[in-house]
Amino acid sequence: MIAIYPGSFDPITLGHLDIIERGCRLFERVVVAVLRNPNKTPLFSVQQRLEQIRISTSHLANVEIDSFDGLTVKYAQMRQAQVLLRGLRAISDFEAELQMAHTNKTLAAHVETVFLATSNEHSFLSSSVVKEIAKFGGSVDHLVPQHVALDIYRCHTKTP
Ligand code: ADP
Repeated sequence: MIAIYPGSFDPITLGHLDIIERGCRLFERVVVAVLRNPNKTPLFSVQQRLEQIRISTSHLANVEIDSFDGLTVKYAQMRQAQVLLRGLRAISDFEAELQMAHTNKTLAAHVETVFLATSNEHSFLSSSVVKEIAKFGGSVDHLVPQHVALDIYRCHTKTP
């Protein structure tokens, strides 16, 4: 079975990576798909995010990295994927994720959304939190892969 793991990944965190690694044990192939969203101003370009994900997942044999725009279910159908993989953190994720899963189901009845519960240590970790900490000069070494931390420090012209 092929699973699409869609998201912004601006940047990829250890929480994302945990979902990818666990997804790889469940599915034949996990396609990490970066959404090209013109409505958001990201810290990293799509190309940079693809590269960060590629390096972070180089130890996994059944991962593919791609980018897409438009409807996620359309992309999933185009890739002949049966599953949309999403991570669930706190209750706050639940409502929006459930709404999205229901909506996607009405658009593509054969595409299932599968949620993986976050690992305890990543429950409050998000790309936004990482960016916020880094903006104010804090260390993000424990939250993102090492090379991503370096990219972030470079953005803020701060040495780790
Ligand atoms: P989006 O803008 O689509 O929410 P994100 O990059 O923020 O993109 O997240 C992509 C997916 O990864 C979402 O399903 C999100 O819930 C999940 N995710 C993000 N951070 C974590 C984490 N710390 N633990 C588990 N899942 C996470």
